[in-house]
Amino acid sequence: MTTPVVALVGRPNVGKSTLFNRLTRTRDALVADFPGLTRDRKYGHANISGYDFIVIDTGGIDGTEEGVEEKMAEQSLLAIEEADVVLFLVDARAGLTPADIGIAQYLRQRQNKTTVVVANKTDGIDADSHCAEFYQLGLGEIAQIAASQGRGVTQLMEDVLAPLAEKMKADESAVENDENSEQEKDEWEHEFDFNSEEDAELLDEALAEENEEPENKNIKIAIVGRPNVGKSTLTNRILGEDRVVVYDLPGTTRDSVYIPMERDGQQYTIIDTAGVRKRGKVHLSVEKFSVIKTLQAIQDANVVLLTVDAREGISDQDLSLLGFILNAGRSLVIVVNKWDGLSQYTKDQVKSELDRRLDFIDFARVHFISALHGSGVGNLFDSVQEAYACATKKMTTSMLTRLLQMATDEHQPPMINGRRIKLKFAHPGGYNPPIIVIHGNKIDKLPDSYKRYLSNYYRRSLKIVGSPIRLQFQEGS
Ligand code: GDP
Ligand code: GDP
Repeated sequence: MTTPVVALVGRPNVGKSTLFNRLTRTRDALVADFPGLTRDRKYGHANISGYDFIVIDTGGIDGTEEGVEEKMAEQSLLAIEEADVVLFLVDARAGLTPADIGIAQYLRQRQNKTTVVVANKTDGIDADSHCAEFYQLGLGEIAQIAASQGRGVTQLMEDVLAPLAEKMKADESAVENDENSEQEKDEWEHEFDFNSEEDAELLDEALAEENEEPENKNIKIAIVGRPNVGKSTLTNRILGEDRVVVYDLPGTTRDSVYIPMERDGQQYTIIDTAGVRKRGKVHLSVEKFSVIKTLQAIQDANVVLLTVDAREGISDQDLSLLGFILNAGRSLVIVVNKWDGLSQYTKDQVKSELDRRLDFIDFARVHFISALHGSGVGNLFDSVQEAYACATKKMTTSMLTRLLQMATDEHQPPMINGRRIKLKFAHPGGYNPPIIVIHGNKIDKLPDSYKRYLSNYYRRSLKIVGSPIRLQFQEGS
């Protein structure tokens, strides 16, 4: 089961973007500005109470036109079709409006959709009496929230997502050993001494262990990118030219195709968002492109191959996708395709543009390839394996604590009101991406610049390439 999709619908001004921002905790949502799609749909990744989901702000429904069909902009309709759950927002302060009734009529026809009426802006009013009239919508219970304050939002999402979660496949990237790290933490508190020789050895052992071969797991690779960058060509090339691809395109637009393959003894699954073409069959790339399909493939992958077109450069949409990949914590390899037939001058231009626009991604390998001719394609697998190994690299409490000590020795955390922030110890909090939990005093005062310093320190010391790292900070021990 892939990541659930939650669509926010409702007339303008009911609080959809406010709820969207609260759920995704970001203001830079992935705005669907892809060819063939309207501008005003926003997509984001969210995690509430451990549930991952994709949220779409459908925008679009104006409510002033005559007739339900016109009221629902085409793209919003599509979002509703593709969603697992529809949250239908109404404004508790404004009360029931004709536009709400129109939208409800449409949603009632979609009987297979889970639809929840959500009364927003219930702060500072008698919510129960204001919400009573929304029962007329005929869509059942009314959930009460105040999106701008966050009130009721967690509860709402838990109620909606818990039933879906059963269908969700247990994700490999889930935090595997919470219990273990608790145990290790206890051991450390009693035994670990920064200055002892023995503990230095412990670290060495840990670092040696880290160099062991990674488990030979099936690595899921998502090949994503804008229409026409060459995803199908690359997928075909990876699978081998002679191989006849004998499946039909899937029935629904939102499903990607999962293709197993083996290379040098390693199992992979290619998540094909483009739909591999049968020989001779021509599709319009835009037609087969689906934002949701792309986002779900990213969620489901271990390593994402973000493919861009050398001739087009890095577009805002590429950056939006990149943001989503980072948010999801996925390992990343950047593939610059169509590198064939370019002059040296153009190649230099493209490279300097990449450096400039991607300077915030300092961890991903960049490959220049030609999917058409096959040059550079084989080398992608080295970076995929490296990224996967780094994302699942074994970390131990002793090793992370030692590195924390070394980092703070080199550069002390700043003083706050004359007292120094104390960072005490660190332990692993999960893999894929690697999560490092740091405990200390006054840790909420730690400036972002120092957090970045720590993150870079860990990245360099642990030699993590191709995967983001997450630091979490906890007060006390
Ligand atoms: P959208 O058009 O549906 O996306 O609505 P917005 O999210 O832009 O919100 C419209 C207005 O309602 C903004 O001024 C918000 O600040 C306000 N608003 C959103 N949520 C709440 C809430 O929970 N309580 C109150 N009092 N105002 C809210
Ligand atoms: P998708 O929409 O991302 O799946 O893109 P396609 O694989 O359908 O490719 C779009 C167009 O780019 C097709 O005409 C391909 O032949 C062409 N193309 C793909 N890869 C390359 C490449 O490496 N070099 C060149 N010159 N053209 C390519």
